[in-house]
Formats: sequence, C-alpha cells, structure tokens
Amino acid sequence: MEPPNVNPAPEKSTKQPAVFRILLATDFSLQAELALEWGLRLRETLGAKLILLHVIDIFSLAELSCRAMGGDPLLPMLRDEARRNMEQWRTWVPDAETIVREGSPRPVIVEAAVELECQMIIMGTHGRSGLAHLVLGSVAEYVVRYSKVPVLTVRLHV
Ligand code: AMP
Repeated sequence: MEPPNVNPAPEKSTKQPAVFRILLATDFSLQAELALEWGLRLRETLGAKLILLHVIDIFSLAELSCRAMGGDPLLPMLRDEARRNMEQWRTWVPDAETIVREGSPRPVIVEAAVELECQMIIMGTHGRSGLAHLVLGSVAEYVVRYSKVPVLTVRLHV
C-alpha cells in the first residue's frame, strides 16, 4: 500500500546566525559592569565589536520639575557626567564604539540596536520584585519584550 502523501518536513537551515555587533546598554551601574564582563567574553567568542550605549533620561529629568527659564540646569550636568562615565568605560574597552543619546532609555535602546545594526543586546538587571518593581519597573523587561534582536540580561546578586 502507498504511504499517505505527507509533505516533507521543512529543511532546517544550516546557517549559523552571525553576531558582528553587540549593543551593551549601560547606566554605569554595578549591574551594567557585570553585563560588560559578559560582553567582553562574548565579543571574544563571537569575534564581534562592542557598542556601548548610554541614554540620558531626559523625561525623568522633566518629571523632577527642575526646569528653569532659559533651559534645564540639570541637563548640562548630566551630559557632562555621561561623558566622564563613558570615558572611564572606554578605558576598559578602548576599541568599543561609544554612544550617548538623549530620550527615554527603554525605546531608545530597542531602536538603537536596529539602527546601529547590532545583532544582540547585553544589559544588566536589578531583578526588582514587589513594590519596587511596581514603582520603578524594569528597563530590561521592556527591552526583552520589544527588541527585534536577542537580549542577554545579567543579574547581579547582592
Ligand atoms: P532594570 O534593572 O531591569 O531596570 O535594568 C537595568 C539595566 O538597564 C542597566 O543595567 C542597563 O543595562 C540598562 N539601562 C538602564 N538605564 C539605562 C540608560 N539610561 N542607558 C542605557 N542603559 C540603561
């Protein structure tokens, strides 16, 4: 008897997904430093380049109601702080690209990964729960949910 006419299973792709550029999102915290350690390890393994991204959260700044006539006095301070922090990080990874953007960190990180042609995001996470999670939310959670590329989150257990 003839076997039933079953469509053959689709062939599995033998192509390995390539990772040339890894976006490392940093708020310069201890969690982000731990994420950097993973970034350095994966960069070696995959032969990829690290792109360090910090986003100055201008919307939180607005909420602080620190706006004065003629401009926000905090913004130049935050820009200066971000520049200094990024310089410090650059000494740890001299061949990384460094990028500072302004906006809301969550969507900016997701969009930057696509725009900067990164195939992966690495970031820290506090892994908050309960009230802290309710009030502060999680940047990592948002990025994992909306990112178009794979995301590795690194949690620091303290
Ligand atoms: P979470 O603890 O889940 O809110 O995520 C914290 C992680 O999000 C940090 O370790 C960074 O990797 C990333 N992150 C938070 N804020 C920023 C920011 N302003 N710019 C870039 N990355 C950020």
